[in-house]
Amino acid sequence: MENQPSRGASPGAVLITGASRGIGAATALTLARAGRDIVVNYVRDARAAEAVAGDIRTLGRKAYIIQADVGRPEEVQRLFEQAEAEAGALYGLVNNAGITGPIGPFSRTTDDTIEQVFRTNVLGAMQCAREALANFQRHGTRGVIVNVSSVAARTGSPEVYVHYAASKAALDAFTLGLAREVAAQGIRVCGLAPGSTLTDIHAAGGEPDRPARAALRIPLGRPAEPNEVAEAIAWLLSPAASYITGTTVACAGGL
Ligand code: NAP
Repeated sequence: MENQPSRGASPGAVLITGASRGIGAATALTLARAGRDIVVNYVRDARAAEAVAGDIRTLGRKAYIIQADVGRPEEVQRLFEQAEAEAGALYGLVNNAGITGPIGPFSRTTDDTIEQVFRTNVLGAMQCAREALANFQRHGTRGVIVNVSSVAARTGSPEVYVHYAASKAALDAFTLGLAREVAAQGIRVCGLAPGSTLTDIHAAGGEPDRPARAALRIPLGRPAEPNEVAEAIAWLLSPAASYITGTTVACAGGL
């Protein structure tokens, strides 16, 4: 039998930015298992996006693959126009796409890196949120936005990626303010802050072994699997979290 969304939840698909790999891909599958159709956004890895979409369809749900760089405003607009044309009403947005840039001390971080990280992690998430709200409002949906932050917003990540930590702190402030602004419409906005999680993001930043080293400081003694973070995101999106908004929840093994 096909999965169905939980009772009490609005209908509609969930758009996940960066759903081709890592936490986004795991979230797509967790939400599909819970009965949601998924808009799978990616930027470069079409093959990975197709694999995720295939797994969603195997679970009996619809998957819409849309390539778009969330760091480019015109592409964000196209992403949401195409999502509306293909999937119709959205129930949720997971602002998951995120990058760190090269790992290292701030003194060696270039303006280009800072700009690219803020374009993707902050401006992109804000523009996606604005488009998702417009979709919710057009369809009268009491939707949910989950912004994927990081514990780096609290630790500051000295010597690692101070600029990235600052981008996630900006996202947390955005979560708080937007949640309070749209609460009266029955729309929730939450943050989910993972700790070190076993994905490709560390290799992309130049340090594939970072989770193993970070594990020494994690009370639970190990990094997270992507599906552990995905479960927390899916819970925030679900009616089980109906009284949670304007806050960023950590999924970080005790950090
Ligand atoms: P990942 O494995 O590197 O995957 C990144 C995903 O985002 C990919 O699907 C990638 O698409 C997509 N993406 C990157 N830039 C994009 C852009 N400009 N437009 C659209 N999509 C884009 O990353 P992850 O570790 O799963 O991270 C997901 C989120 O969790 C990020 O916001 C990250 O900051 C946060 N986070 C991660 C960790 C961790 O330890 N992994 C810890 C704390 C927070 P392609 O496949 O097409 O490249």
